[in-house]
Amino acid sequence: MGTILETKALTKAYGKFKALDQVTVCLEQGEIYGLIGQNGAGKTTFMRLIAGLSFPTAGRMTLFGQPIGKTQTTDQQMGFMIENPAIIRHLTAKEVLRYFAKMKGLTCNDEQLDQLLTKVHLADTGKKKAHQFSLGMKQRLGIAIALLGDPTFLVLDEPINGLDPQGMVEIRALLRQLASEGKTILLSSHNLPELYQVATQYIILNQGKVVKQLSLLELEKQTRHYLRVVVNEPRRLAQVLSEIETIGNYEINHEGEAKLFQVESKEDLLKQLVAHNVWPITFVEQEESLENFYFSLIGGS
Ligand code: ATP
Repeated sequence: MGTILETKALTKAYGKFKALDQVTVCLEQGEIYGLIGQNGAGKTTFMRLIAGLSFPTAGRMTLFGQPIGKTQTTDQQMGFMIENPAIIRHLTAKEVLRYFAKMKGLTCNDEQLDQLLTKVHLADTGKKKAHQFSLGMKQRLGIAIALLGDPTFLVLDEPINGLDPQGMVEIRALLRQLASEGKTILLSSHNLPELYQVATQYIILNQGKVVKQLSLLELEKQTRHYLRVVVNEPRRLAQVLSEIETIGNYEINHEGEAKLFQVESKEDLLKQLVAHNVWPITFVEQEESLENFYFSLIGGS
């Protein structure tokens, strides 16, 4: 496994406004990176810089260890779908692929195009024109265009946005399949739950800055189930909890509210608290919400 993309203090300014501000990230092979941020956070700007469609004001970026846009070899190892899937309305899926293959300077035979259509589950679209496709089919065709030439690194801007649940399931499955083949994928969304579980790494952007980078495992910790306990004697709670063997991992915040992540027996816990003359005011099962976590990072509500 190696490093695919590395950026150092990457900045894109329009006049005094910084659409991207000192972004430093490192993308490793075989991972699916979710780039999350609200509208205007800088996601497309970042992807356009990687694709060489615009140029940074400051900072550095390397693709496969080479400066971006400097060598054709690195460019050919990258496929992208930025903003809307670039399809031509009056062509069939296969004709669209043939057109873009020519644009990319690739010679693809019919069999290769059919294989690509099979991969994105569009093999049975036959003579159907692209304008008759559902949004999910258009997104899959956009991904097929990005896959022309079998690139190692895929950059996909909002590939799941606007899809119905079935379409989302299909795209997620396709992305997982591509990652299992060793491709590295960077995809954007303004919706963290939308990418939850498809991405293996998350980069959260806000106002052009990376506010957090974390793995799926770390993100899953943010959505743990827990028992929320508030008591009449918050100062004594930590002492009492430390003496109870049937509870595992827990946290107590500075207001004395406890989150208990492993409780073998709620009844036993309740008995023990009361036996120590610590009386629960709140004793309720809860789950950390992904949205709460996200808004806690970007400062919204
Ligand atoms: P969305 O989800 O709406 O696509 P985004 O996170 O992709 O949002 P960007 O398109 O990267 O956001 O835009 C980031 C900021 O940069 C926005 O405030 C946008 O208005 C600004 N911006 C983008 N392109 C230009 C430009 N050519 N000139 C001036 N400002 C721009």
